[in-house]
Amino acid sequence: MILEELRSHVLKTALLLPKYNLVWMAGGTVCARDPLTGYVVVTPSGLDYERLTPEDMIVTDMEMNLVEGKYRPSVALNLWIGFMRARTELNAVVHTHSPYATAFSVAYQPVPVITETMADWFGQPVPVTRYLSVEDPEFPTLPIEVMGDGYAVLLGNHGPITVGKTIEHALERAVTLEEAARTYSIARTIGAPTTLTEEQARDSFDYYHNRYGQKKS
Ligand SMILES: [Zn+2]
Repeated sequence: MILEELRSHVLKTALLLPKYNLVWMAGGTVCARDPLTGYVVVTPSGLDYERLTPEDMIVTDMEMNLVEGKYRPSVALNLWIGFMRARTELNAVVHTHSPYATAFSVAYQPVPVITETMADWFGQPVPVTRYLSVEDPEFPTLPIEVMGDGYAVLLGNHGPITVGKTIEHALERAVTLEEAARTYSIARTIGAPTTLTEEQARDSFDYYHNRYGQKKS
C-alpha cells in the first residue's frame, strides 16, 4: 500500500470533522496531495468514516486516474484537484457542511472579515458561488475562480471549502470559518457588527504569515 502515512493523516482529519461539528454522518471530504509523488489521497464519499481504515482511502494522480483503492473517486474530485492544480502551493482541501458557514451560502452572503483570527487565516472575506450541482459544467472551475487568491469559498446552497499548504491548515481554516460565521451571526442579533477594513485584514494576514515567525498559508 503506497502513501500509508498520508492515508492515515487524511482519515484522522476526516474523523475530526464530526468532532468539531463541521459535518454529520458521512458528509464532508478531505483531500491531500503528496508533494513528492504528486499523487492525491481522498476520502471515499458517502461512507461512515468511523468504519474506514487507511486502506479505504483513494489514491489518484492529478488527472483523476485511480492509482490505488477499492472505491471509485466521486466526480467532485475534479474540483478538489482543481484547487491544487490552479495553486501549486496548496496541498490540501477540506469540504464540510458546517451549519453557520452553510447558512451564509444559503443566504448568498460572503463571510466578512470580522475577527483577528479570521484575518490571520484568510486576509479577505470568503465569497459564495452560485448554486452548482456536481453535474454543472462549471462545477469543477467556478469555485476556484470565485475563491481567487483566497483560502476558502462557499458553494451556494451547499457548504464551505477551505484550502491550505498542509492538511492542518485547511482544517484550521474550516474551523475558523465556521467560528467566524457563528460569531458574526450572534453579533448581528446584538447590533450592527463592525467588520475589519480591507487594509486591516490584509495587514493582519501579512503579519501572521510573514513577520510573526511561523510561516503559514
Ligand atoms: Zn458537500
